[in-house]
Amino acid sequence: MAPAEYFHSVRLLRDKCQGCVSCVKACPTEAIRVRNGKAEILADRCVDCGACASICPYHAFSIKTATLDGLEKYAYNIVLPAPSMYSQFPEQVPMEDIWQGLHNLGFDEIFDVSLASEYIAKEIETYVKNYTGGRKPLISSTCPSVLRLIQVKFPELIKQVVPVLAPAEAAAIYVRQKAEAKLGLASEKIGVWFISPCPSKETNIRQSVDVRQTALSGSFSLAEIYGKLLRCLGGDNTLNVVTGSSYGMGWGAYGGEISSAGLENALAVHGVDNVYEVLEQISMNKMPTLDYVECNMCERGCIGGCLTAENKFVAESNLRRRINILRSQEPVERELTMASSMTLEDFPRSAAYLKKLVARPMMHLDENIMEAMKKFERMEEVLYSLPGLNCGACGAPSCQGLAEDIVQGKAHEIDCIFKLRGSVHKLAQGMIELAKQIPISHEPQSLNAVEEDER
Ligand code: SF4
Ligand code: SF4
Repeated sequence: MAPAEYFHSVRLLRDKCQGCVSCVKACPTEAIRVRNGKAEILADRCVDCGACASICPYHAFSIKTATLDGLEKYAYNIVLPAPSMYSQFPEQVPMEDIWQGLHNLGFDEIFDVSLASEYIAKEIETYVKNYTGGRKPLISSTCPSVLRLIQVKFPELIKQVVPVLAPAEAAAIYVRQKAEAKLGLASEKIGVWFISPCPSKETNIRQSVDVRQTALSGSFSLAEIYGKLLRCLGGDNTLNVVTGSSYGMGWGAYGGEISSAGLENALAVHGVDNVYEVLEQISMNKMPTLDYVECNMCERGCIGGCLTAENKFVAESNLRRRINILRSQEPVERELTMASSMTLEDFPRSAAYLKKLVARPMMHLDENIMEAMKKFERMEEVLYSLPGLNCGACGAPSCQGLAEDIVQGKAHEIDCIFKLRGSVHKLAQGMIELAKQIPISHEPQSLNAVEEDER
């Protein structure tokens, strides 16, 4: 079976690449190679986490997202701001001013994703409590890059992924249905937009791995919208926006998910390397007594996404202050607080909209199984001959990666600098040996001998 075509919102700007290999080592799925001095992304491996874009010192990546012109295609536009968006502003900027600013940018309606997060938290809580028999811990499903990482690198963990919608998707389903009923508009006439802190949301809208059909029309880069919003914040403040509680707001940073689901025997992991390490340990069954792991591919959670405008630590502090203000006005008990904000009728339940998460094998050595086995054997031989330092200097992320590329005819053994040094050394030795065999009469005359002849 030929590899499928994958949509990627993370794109390489080849001209800007200086071949420094920083991105090669940062990529969790070994999806980048530097060949002939330029990076290349292997489409079947990329999970659109944005780690490469965050680390590249030459800004050689772009992220494809929607632009505001897209609003013109629809008769009615709804925007879904998430907690990560509020975190870009200090708490002195009222949420009403942010909503009015979004309205000024051309959105007809605003729905707060933090409220949807609470419904999803309830589903997680129920699922975890009723889970019996299977392997633990369960793993959160709300970060699309984590889902893709599991598909590509840890397919054995698919069964442990909790089957719930990402809050933005659940919010989109809800507002789309309500707008259709309220306005009598066909679904195609309604635009539903997310303001995203990272590339993975746009990728999952264009090519979803977990929902049958997305209700989102697209996502905007938070950094881009932020710049435009700053110029038009505030105004009449006449919008009627239903918001979530402090628990829904908490989803913007790591730990918010498990806190709103009331899970205590749980971990909140954030950052590409940490998520990878924890998934690896779960895969080796090293955390069997834990109930749940919340995974955020971005450092410190969504507030650390590569499409945010504010420094992630400042954003985290902004968010925590907003949460504290909300919490000071709420009942002490989580249950009571969430029950008083979750008053929407007909909020969608995840099960009706999800599709099965499937493995996405990343190594296609050959279409033919016999050929693939031969190549695998050859790959093992090559790997054995490499130094095993995983230095990345060859442009592949590891010696295993280089061995695979060599077997596939995409690289040479001497791309490894240690192999190259060995070959140069051997060549030099050979030349010295050859030089020793040259008969005296064939040796070039020394300068002194020439001078003596001339005298
Ligand atoms: S980080 Fe990657 S894309 Fe950026 S300059 Fe270095 S090799 Fe090129
Ligand atoms: S987006 Fe993530 S997975 Fe894709 S190439 Fe960049 S670092 Fe690798």
